[in-house]
Amino acid sequence: MAAYEYETHDYDVVVVGAGGAGLRATLGMAEQGLRTACVTKVFPTRSHTVAAQGGIAASLSNMGPDHWQWHMFDTVKGSDYLGDTDAMEYLAREAPKAVYELEHYGVPFSRTEEGKIYQRPFGGHTTEFGEGPPVQRTCAAADRTGHAILHTLYGQSLKQKAEFYIEYFALDLIMSDDGVCTGVVCWKLNDGTMHVFNAKMVVLATGGYGRAYFSATSAHTCTGDGGGMVARAGLPLQDMEFVQFHPTGIYGAGCLITEGARGEGGYLTNSEGERFMERYAPNYKDLAPRDYVSRCMTMEIREGRGVGEHGDHIHLNLSHLPAEALNLRLPGISESARIFAGVDVTKQPIPVLPTVHYNMGGIPTNYWGEVINPTADDPNAIVPGLMAVGEAGCASVHGANRLGSNSLIDLVVFGRAAAIRAGKVVDRDAPAPTLNKPAIDAAFDRFDGLRHADGGTPTAELRLDMQRTMQEDAAVFRTSDTLKKGLDKMVDIAGKLDDLKVTDRSLIWNSDLMETLELTNLMPNALATIAGAEARQESRGAHAHEDFPERDDTNWRVHTIARVEGNRIDLSHRGVITDPLTTEDQGGIATARIAPKVRTF
Ligand SMILES: Cc1cc2nc3c(=O)[nH]c(=O)nc-3n(C[C@H](O)[C@H](O)[C@H](O)COP(=O)(O)OP(=O)(O)OC[C@H]3O[C@@H](n4cnc5c(N)ncnc54)[C@H](O)[C@@H]3O)c2cc1C
Repeated sequence: MAAYEYETHDYDVVVVGAGGAGLRATLGMAEQGLRTACVTKVFPTRSHTVAAQGGIAASLSNMGPDHWQWHMFDTVKGSDYLGDTDAMEYLAREAPKAVYELEHYGVPFSRTEEGKIYQRPFGGHTTEFGEGPPVQRTCAAADRTGHAILHTLYGQSLKQKAEFYIEYFALDLIMSDDGVCTGVVCWKLNDGTMHVFNAKMVVLATGGYGRAYFSATSAHTCTGDGGGMVARAGLPLQDMEFVQFHPTGIYGAGCLITEGARGEGGYLTNSEGERFMERYAPNYKDLAPRDYVSRCMTMEIREGRGVGEHGDHIHLNLSHLPAEALNLRLPGISESARIFAGVDVTKQPIPVLPTVHYNMGGIPTNYWGEVINPTADDPNAIVPGLMAVGEAGCASVHGANRLGSNSLIDLVVFGRAAAIRAGKVVDRDAPAPTLNKPAIDAAFDRFDGLRHADGGTPTAELRLDMQRTMQEDAAVFRTSDTLKKGLDKMVDIAGKLDDLKVTDRSLIWNSDLMETLELTNLMPNALATIAGAEARQESRGAHAHEDFPERDDTNWRVHTIARVEGNRIDLSHRGVITDPLTTEDQGGIATARIAPKVRTF
């Protein structure tokens, strides 16, 4: 057994992750009077949320009429009827409150002439339950909204005296034999010491796993560590086959050009200079939801109308927009286009390609952020002591496809909901949980095994195999053939985790070991993704299956539940929650409005 000395820290709550979701939860927990620690592998304001550009959705009605029910309807339709209805209602209803709260905390939103929060149009956001024109619902701080939110929330968390453990890498959850989470084991990166956080509630806010793919808009730190920890604890992941490809990643570089660029009037063209989205989506045009635009772009390229020397990408045009507007509303992306594509957006189009951007799937939770582990008797059974929020979680408000600007609002609405819930269920006066020595030892054994791994496969090589396979075989369009082939390959690749080679054995700033730990987290996420995709015999949202081009509500309006152990994957299903929180009589949405329909744009 590996012997590591460790320091023990007792808290009411430990939040793992300091992105938008983790910080909103941390701040809220501290406000509830809970002794709260926030553990993060990168400095809080370097979390991927800092890169969010376009904005945060809420029906404020600052730029024309809007209603929470219209926001809910768009989210339900955008999810291709796979989201949980109670959670989607909670999101849309609470969104305005959450945004005003951010404003009061100090987020420097862009302003209208009257001084109200500026809102821009975004894909799939409409009026009149999809019957009216697009709505300006996305609240923005220029094209640096995530940056503004993250810095504000960090400042507020410090003000509430939450305690931060920065550059601590969470290794594994501590679970009791009867399935209660009682803490998390961490490695401090800059001095090599080990730490056990003993807590009555653990909140996973570890972000997405975009880096399972070769080309992604997400940061290199987006390695699905929460999903990895959960899988190792024998808990499931949900709806992992739904991976969002953003239509406008910069060709070659993969970094993002916000949908706000099309919100401000930008449009896509093919090699014939045609604004082809008008043909595919006569009403929504370039502001159709992301799954649809990405598919249309891919079809244009396949049919020989791609741009560039190899005809393998598409143009995004902004040069018709006034230079002042670009400067005021989209300064960040003008800079990205110059640096990463060598393009002056006031004169030239930006070369773009659909690029992996967001994970709709994640750790299943209810709309309070409590983690769910479905049993035969109870599909919504809760794991005591464990919550998940943000991109790591799956509440599920995005279902099979997320609308742009609905993630930032998900972070703050559910970060706040988790804090409200913890304020009720965590007993401040109870003693700290008893240290679970066997679980702690097991975490150190795994860590030590990887630290001394001396097989034949370097981490970077295996990671590249995984990323290439996922990119090729779990892409925008999928077939039974590619998915089967891809799944077999991924099972082989995951099998090679036993043959890893780590060269650096030190404990201080050992990036070789950290990337190895991250790879062991990416792998179960990737396996669940491709296995779920292989099994799902329909097309829904971001899952476009060429052998099953129709949505099949009779057989497949269900969440995929994936349990991954090593390279074995066990799939089952959980029913979608179709009842809203409130009935029409109570002021809620009419159920006929949200009954599944064919999505048209
Ligand atoms: C380029 C880009 C632009 C985007 N623009 C928008 C937008 O305009 N609007 C919108 O709604 N959405 C947008 N999104 C999506 C949205 O920004 C993300 O989904 C969201 O920010 C994720 O936030 P999070 O808090 O869940 O995780 P993150 O911000 O990714 O934070 C994860 C945190 O977990 C910590 N962590 C992870 N693993 C460990 C570990 N093992 N130990 C300790 N700590 C750990 C990290 O240190 C970090 O603090 C964008 C995404 C990208 C990539």
